[in-house]
Amino acid sequence: MEHIDGRMLIGGELVESAGGAWLDSVDPATEEIIGRVPAGSPEDIGAAVEAASDAFPEWAGKSMQERADILREYGRRLRSEHKRILEIEVRDTGNSVSKLRHDVVAAVRGVEYFAGLGTELKGETIPAGGGSLHYSVREPYGVVGRIVPFNHPILFAAKFAAPLMAGNCIVIKPSEQSPLSASVLGEIVRDTLPPGVVNIVTGDGRGAGDPLVRHPAVKRISFIGSVPTGLAIQRAAAEVAVKHVSLELGGKNPLIVFPDADPEEVSTAAVAGMNFGWQGQSCGSTSRLLVPDALYSEIVSRVAAKVDAIVMGDPGDESVQAGPMNSRGQLDKTLRYIDIAHEDGARLVAGGVRPTGPQFERGYWVRPTVFADVTSDMRIFREEVFGPILSIVRYSDVEEAMRLANDVEYGLTASIWTNDLTAAMRAAQRVRAGYVWVNDTSRHFLGTGFGGMNNSGVGREECFDEMLSYTELKTVHVRV
Ligand code: NAD
Repeated sequence: MEHIDGRMLIGGELVESAGGAWLDSVDPATEEIIGRVPAGSPEDIGAAVEAASDAFPEWAGKSMQERADILREYGRRLRSEHKRILEIEVRDTGNSVSKLRHDVVAAVRGVEYFAGLGTELKGETIPAGGGSLHYSVREPYGVVGRIVPFNHPILFAAKFAAPLMAGNCIVIKPSEQSPLSASVLGEIVRDTLPPGVVNIVTGDGRGAGDPLVRHPAVKRISFIGSVPTGLAIQRAAAEVAVKHVSLELGGKNPLIVFPDADPEEVSTAAVAGMNFGWQGQSCGSTSRLLVPDALYSEIVSRVAAKVDAIVMGDPGDESVQAGPMNSRGQLDKTLRYIDIAHEDGARLVAGGVRPTGPQFERGYWVRPTVFADVTSDMRIFREEVFGPILSIVRYSDVEEAMRLANDVEYGLTASIWTNDLTAAMRAAQRVRAGYVWVNDTSRHFLGTGFGGMNNSGVGREECFDEMLSYTELKTVHVRV
């Protein structure tokens, strides 16, 4: 792949950072530097917010149809650049190409979905006494700040149609860990959207993320990332003003196996639910597998065999099922949790080591890993690793299963496996999670809100509520 010399997008221009600093980006499979992006600074954030504020009146003044037409054109161009983006993303993230290719498609579908929903942003008329009228309208905030994580860079950066259809302009801050596709996105946006409507400032959390959160002209912040950063963003926002902050955060998601489930089917699902194509670096990964006594040993051995059979290697190879971790930091964190799990007394049944072979000598590699006999007092049960570690936990009855499922600070997703409809519905009712699959894992469906309960977040995306969340309600009373 050619070396990527990235640029930010501010006011319709592809630019370097004001301070002239750069951040290198590394291919996690080889540790080679494959590109660089500007290290955005508070000054760059200031310029981007100003550009967005300047663009706002004209953008908000366009009809829904005009906005939808422009966004659909943007979506078509994004789709046409699929191959180029995919090549960059595979090298920059280490995610397996066979899985990652769906991300651009998902981003385009999100654009099309929200482009079609604009006219549904309706207000209401409210019954009033004689001689008066009450009505409400939904108004955009103005400038929205969006900060996204490293695991789905293009998907999260490119799906900005909800705030835009609501009439807002936006400043996007991609992750410094896999920022290269944002440069291609910048070119596409420059060519298809009016200047300043979408701005992209690369850089790290301190130099670019925090100043965006604190900027007085940014009232609405939408964040996807970890719980500690989500808390820092809420604190920073609250220090400067009253802001609307939505948070899509981490998970420690249970897959609850009921005794009637088919052990082979559920073992396949447990491996699929870990999203090893992302090396488990997926917020929705079902990283706690809760198994009843009767099926325990059979499922442990089936899952271990399937995980041992996962093919690791060059993430650009179609047959590869797991590539490297995204960064040295992610690798070190995963290795640390493997040590902790050993110390806490969990039983390693698959992986836990670096793969062997000449192509694994450099790069951030660790085999997909499974620990059995995990109990609720262990850190591996309670804390999000955001890596390729599956914990298998044994339970005796449904009460215990539900207690275990809910016994963490998170509440993002849950998966329930049973053919007993009543058991499934009861468990779905009782589990504290924002998204529940019954006899499925991982899949997202546009129109069905995705987001977390407990410390996994505030707000929902991928549904009409997301678009509403980019508006403020104004109520008007008219004395006739
Ligand atoms: P992270 O929180 O470390 O970083 C996310 C983004 O925040 C990056 O762009 C980073 O530069 C920025 N940032 C860091 N400090 C900041 C600060 N003080 N102020 C403003 N911005 C700051 O997360 P990550 O490691 O990139 O991603 C992994 C996390 O994201 C996991 O916890 C995962 O579960 C979560 N995630 C959640 C969802 C979801 O939909 N709920 C989706 C994907 C990932």
